[in-house]
Amino acid sequence: MPKAKPGLSDSKSLVPDSFTLAGTRWEVKREMLTGEMGHCSRDEAIIRLNNKLAGQIEESTFYHELVHAVLFSMGKTGDKHDEEFVDLFGAFLHQFMLTRGK
Ligand SMILES: [Zn+2]
Repeated sequence: MPKAKPGLSDSKSLVPDSFTLAGTRWEVKREMLTGEMGHCSRDEAIIRLNNKLAGQIEESTFYHELVHAVLFSMGKTGDKHDEEFVDLFGAFLHQFMLTRGK
């Protein structure tokens, strides 16, 4: 039987359908993205994930974009986001989620 691609409803995925930061409801969508693994839109409160991603690559991309969403929620405009910080912080958040309770 073919293995199902992890979806938003996959209970094992660490990627939520939505979440709230500072009173703003964010949605997570999988879409066809050109040249990007993911994208964080502050104006729309949407995190878009490239629909070609799956498993832990999709998860790590989500946590990267989540850090951008947190920084936007802190009032930091995109030009103030340090990509190296975002990438490392996102990786540690993902590691926390993977290992919590274990
Ligand atoms: Zn980034």
